[in-house]
Amino acid sequence: MNWEKNIRTVVPYVAGEQPQDKNIIKLNTNECPYPPAPAVAKKLAEMDADSFRLYPDQNITSIVSALSEYYKVRPEQIFVGVGSDDVLSLAFLTFFNSGKPILFPDVTYSFYDVWADLYRIPYKTVPLKEDWSVDIEGMKQENGGVIFPNPNAPTGLFTDIKSVEEIIAANRDVIVIVDEAYIDFGGESVLPLIESYDNLLVVQTFSKSRAMAGMRIGFCVGNEKLIKYLSDVKFSFNSYTMNMPSQILGALAVEDDAYFKEITGKIVATREWTKKELTRLGFTFPDSMANFIFASHSSVPAKEIYKYLREKSIYVRYWDKKRINNCLRITIGTDEQMRALVAALEELLT
Ligand code: PMP
Repeated sequence: MNWEKNIRTVVPYVAGEQPQDKNIIKLNTNECPYPPAPAVAKKLAEMDADSFRLYPDQNITSIVSALSEYYKVRPEQIFVGVGSDDVLSLAFLTFFNSGKPILFPDVTYSFYDVWADLYRIPYKTVPLKEDWSVDIEGMKQENGGVIFPNPNAPTGLFTDIKSVEEIIAANRDVIVIVDEAYIDFGGESVLPLIESYDNLLVVQTFSKSRAMAGMRIGFCVGNEKLIKYLSDVKFSFNSYTMNMPSQILGALAVEDDAYFKEITGKIVATREWTKKELTRLGFTFPDSMANFIFASHSSVPAKEIYKYLREKSIYVRYWDKKRINNCLRITIGTDEQMRALVAALEELLT
């Protein structure tokens, strides 16, 4: 079996479960509990299947234009991909080529080390501080690039934009990627900083705040040169990445700002209610600015609570990993779903 030694072997990322049973209260993958903007459903019903004969627009112009208008940036400063995972993966491939280790927190989105391994990019993890905050000074050591989510995942903690700017400013010779998958739940985006820092790439997604995880739409915003380099890699990989319905429906989702503000506002209000209830039940957690809470209980191990909730058809996320094996990541659902969660926890814990 000589061929086997030349294979690019990888340990893949493990995504949260997607159970098919609609009765399950699904709080395990940070999806939005509300439907996409009403115009999406309307347009979907009117769609003509004959249009699928043709290849889709390889430049994804409809979404680029909608985002350009919404975020007041030039189309040349935007790159759209098939979910932010696609954007991040291409960004690793494009920007992390120095041979020096890239930096990211030890507790963070668990896809980063997978991409680094896949592309043979060396990396060094920077431990979060005791209070789960990002170690700003640690992100200033010599490196081949920097990436971190803001708010961080799975902690939910937001790093203030002054500190994020400090990291970007200290790393002018490499690319700094700020993964803002959860920025729309109370955080403040560093997007305006792209005008001052040509080494900054801001990545966002339609999967959480725009309720479209199933359509797979993500994007990044940065200096025109960065976007050009990223596009060159994309067009050397696969030109027609995003399907036609996602391109049409994604643009409509951006256009309805009132709906966007309504659902993100509801999720934030539900999160704050859930924080109070979890505290009452003996949980502690970093003060999340995302659509999830990363909670530990004072006396009952997380693994036990995870299994108990699962039996009650409530799915949350648990990792049996160093530093976080006593924490549960609980996605914020509807008020009704969170009341069911609290009632189940009450039964176990009181
Ligand atoms: N970044 C972070 C921090 C995430 O938690 C996720 C969701 N798994 C993503 C990026 C990717 O999301 P998507 O590909 O759905 O845009």
